[in-house]
Amino acid sequence: MNVKAPRNLNRNATPGYREVMAHIRMDDIRYDPWGTSMGWMFAIADVYRAATDGELLPDYLPSPYVGAPTLDAMVCVNRDTCDGECAACADGYTTQLVASMVADGYVTVADLRAVYATLSRFDTWCRLAGRDY
Ligand SMILES: [Zn+2]
Repeated sequence: MNVKAPRNLNRNATPGYREVMAHIRMDDIRYDPWGTSMGWMFAIADVYRAATDGELLPDYLPSPYVGAPTLDAMVCVNRDTCDGECAACADGYTTQLVASMVADGYVTVADLRAVYATLSRFDTWCRLAGRDY
């Protein structure tokens, strides 16, 4: 039997993609795979929408009750000293982190699309494995 070594699926990943995926791996993905991936998908979709002037990622519908925020409004202006009570930080740690990485130029909107696609496949796996709730 001819068994090939598995391809390195991260071989062509950009630094921005790797950066976001590293944060996701450090999150609760092992114990709550579906909930954790959902949280990151919403954060990425929200930031993507803001960074692209309103483009929506697949299977994502923003709340009709919340206006479209700008990327600037999603980034805490006092990251080093903020008590977490500002409007940007109130969106949650994950959204704040993704927005900051995009605003700082570490992560591109193409990186966000790639991570979202990976999480979308992971979401399908979680549902098929009965790990959703
Ligand atoms: Zn803040």
